[in-house]
Amino acid sequence: MTTRVLLLGGTAEARDLAAALVDRPGTVVVSSLAGRVADPRLPAGQVRIGGFGGPAGLTRWLTEHRVDALVDATHPYAARMRVSAVEAAGATGVPYLRLERPGWTAGPGDHWHRVPDLAAAAALVPRLGRRAFVTTGRQGLDAFLHLTGNWLLVRVVDDPAMPLPGNVTVLRDRGPYEVAAERELLVTHRIDVLVSKDSGGAYTAAKLAAARDLGLPVVLVDRPAPVPLPAMVTEVTAALAWLETALPPARPGAGRSPQTAR
Ligand code: NAP
Repeated sequence: MTTRVLLLGGTAEARDLAAALVDRPGTVVVSSLAGRVADPRLPAGQVRIGGFGGPAGLTRWLTEHRVDALVDATHPYAARMRVSAVEAAGATGVPYLRLERPGWTAGPGDHWHRVPDLAAAAALVPRLGRRAFVTTGRQGLDAFLHLTGNWLLVRVVDDPAMPLPGNVTVLRDRGPYEVAAERELLVTHRIDVLVSKDSGGAYTAAKLAAARDLGLPVVLVDRPAPVPLPAMVTEVTAALAWLETALPPARPGAGRSPQTAR
């Protein structure tokens, strides 16, 4: 009998967890991606791409694929998927875990302004400077497009879908980033203010250190409101430990299960 784990991904932690799980004897790990990025970094193991069709669709998927454990390792701002996962796990009784990295905390020399959402971030930008580096991603970019008095450098993985006004320059890139390169970027573009989500983790933290070095203010958009979660950990190692309690014992004789896509 094969043990099946559905891993809701799109993050570095999800890829790290998938890489660790594919070697668990008798275990198949299926990573799920939303399909937002044209050329995603693919995790080890099986991969499926696209929405499930809300909580009901995910409930069906868990049942039809006889999933033994569900790990939601999506990004801290993926609020809809998080709710769907909790509901589907509740409906099916499939053991559920949320893997979510902690947010960042300000240290000496940081000038952070925490705001509740993208609209509040956009409202604050003109008061902090003229040239802004906006790193909140492609989704929600329209919240900043009325800032015609500002020059905006917008960093995205894929080009934004909508036409952009002349005061917006797009920089296509994806992490991880280094502090020296981030500092150079801020200096070269004469950035006055950085806008970021509170993503947490090391992948994209270099911009915060660069802003601190240069004494620049940072507008940090708060995470979505928390929802009650059946179980949550912040580290991949803790997720692996939880899986050992939630799954049937690994069968060393079973060997590595075929992890081909289907
Ligand atoms: P979201 O608003 O919570 O999700 C919207 C819908 O997209 C969900 O209801 C679900 O559709 C589908 N979806 C989301 N994540 C999925 C997954 N891993 N597998 C299958 N379907 C998924 O999420 P989002 O903010 O658009 O983020 C989409 C993906 O990008 C997530 O996987 C997340 O980990 C990754 N990501 C997001 C951010 C961010 O800032 N939001 C940053 C980096 C990476 P159905 O209802 O049809 O199931």
